[in-house]
Amino acid sequence: MSLIRVTDHGLYCPQGDFYIDPWKPVRKAVITHAHSDHARWGSQEYLCHHDTKPLLQLRLGDNHYQSIGWNETIFLNGVQLSLHPAGHVIGSSQVRLEYGGEVWVVSGDYKTENDGISGAFEPVRCHCFITESTFGLPIYQWKNQETIFASIRQWIHENQAAKRTSLLLAYSLGKAQRLIHGLANCVDQVYVHGAVFNTQQALQNAGFKFPPTIKVSADIPREQYHRNLVIAPGSAADSPWIKKLQPVSIGVCSGWMQVRGNARRRNVDAGFALSDHADWPGLIAAVKATGAEKVLATHGFQAAFSRYLNEQGIEAAEIKTAFGDDEEESSNATSTEPANDNDA
Ligand SMILES: [Zn+2]
Ligand SMILES: [Zn+2]
Repeated sequence: MSLIRVTDHGLYCPQGDFYIDPWKPVRKAVITHAHSDHARWGSQEYLCHHDTKPLLQLRLGDNHYQSIGWNETIFLNGVQLSLHPAGHVIGSSQVRLEYGGEVWVVSGDYKTENDGISGAFEPVRCHCFITESTFGLPIYQWKNQETIFASIRQWIHENQAAKRTSLLLAYSLGKAQRLIHGLANCVDQVYVHGAVFNTQQALQNAGFKFPPTIKVSADIPREQYHRNLVIAPGSAADSPWIKKLQPVSIGVCSGWMQVRGNARRRNVDAGFALSDHADWPGLIAAVKATGAEKVLATHGFQAAFSRYLNEQGIEAAEIKTAFGDDEEESSNATSTEPANDNDA
C-alpha cells in the first residue's frame, strides 16, 4: 500500500487527502519547514510544527494555520499523522504517517548533527522512508561544527586585524541563526541584513532567545562595521547594499564549500562547509536507523544515492519533486551542484 504518491501538485496522501510541502496550491498542506521551496503560497490550510508557524506567518502572511508539537498525534481522514524533529532549521519536522498498519515517513530536509537550536534529528522506524539527498555523494563529509566555527572565528580575527568587515553569506532561516548563536561572542556587535533581522524578530516574538543584532542601515557610520561581523543572505553580495561595508572580506557558509575551488568560483574570499543538511554518512545512518524496507530519494543526488542503497541491499528508487537547493538563498551555479530540472 502506498501512503504517498507524487502528483503534479506535490507529495500526496490519497487516504488522508492532504499534501506534504506541495509546490502548487492545494486544500490541505502539511509543511515540514519554512524554507521557500517547501512552504509555498496559496494553499487553503496549513499544518506545521508550533515553531514553524511564526515563520510561515512571516513569509506567507495571514492564512489558516494549525500547529502541533513533536510526537503529538492527530488524524486526518483516518490517517494518523505526527511530526518528529528533523534537525534542519528551527521547527523543521519529519512527517510520520500511519494507516492500515503501514508506516511512512517523509523526511523533509534534515541534518543528523545537533546544532543546539533546531531540535535533534530523531530516527523514526517506518516501512517506507522518503529522504532528501541534497548532499548524497561520498565527497560530502562534514567536519564537526566546532571545528568549522573555530576556523570562522580565526578568519574574523584576521579581518579585525586588517580593519575589514567580516561579511558571512548564509541562508536567513537556519544558517544565520546558527552563526549569530555561535559567533556573537567574538565581536562587539553583530550586524545583519533585513532578511536575517526579520527572521530573528519573528523567532524572538515566538519566544526564542538570540544575542542582539542590529540591522545594517545607511545611518550607521561605516567604521562601525569594520572589526565587526555582518550576516546576510547570498543575494546581498551581488547588490549595491554591500558597498557600505567596504573594505570587506566575504565568506560563504554552505555545504557546497566542501568542494575545493567553489569559494573562488563564487568570487568570495572564504568558504566554510557549514551545512544544514546531512552529509553522506549522515544520510546513510539516517536511512539505516529507520529500518525501512523501501527508500525513496528526492531532491539532490537522488540517482546516485538510490543506486548506492540498492547496492547495499536496501530497496531504493528516486522520485522527482520540485524542491530546490535550499542550502543557500541565492541562485548560484557551480559545476558540483545538481541540475535543477524541475520547473513545476
Ligand atoms: Zn530546507
Ligand atoms: Zn529542501
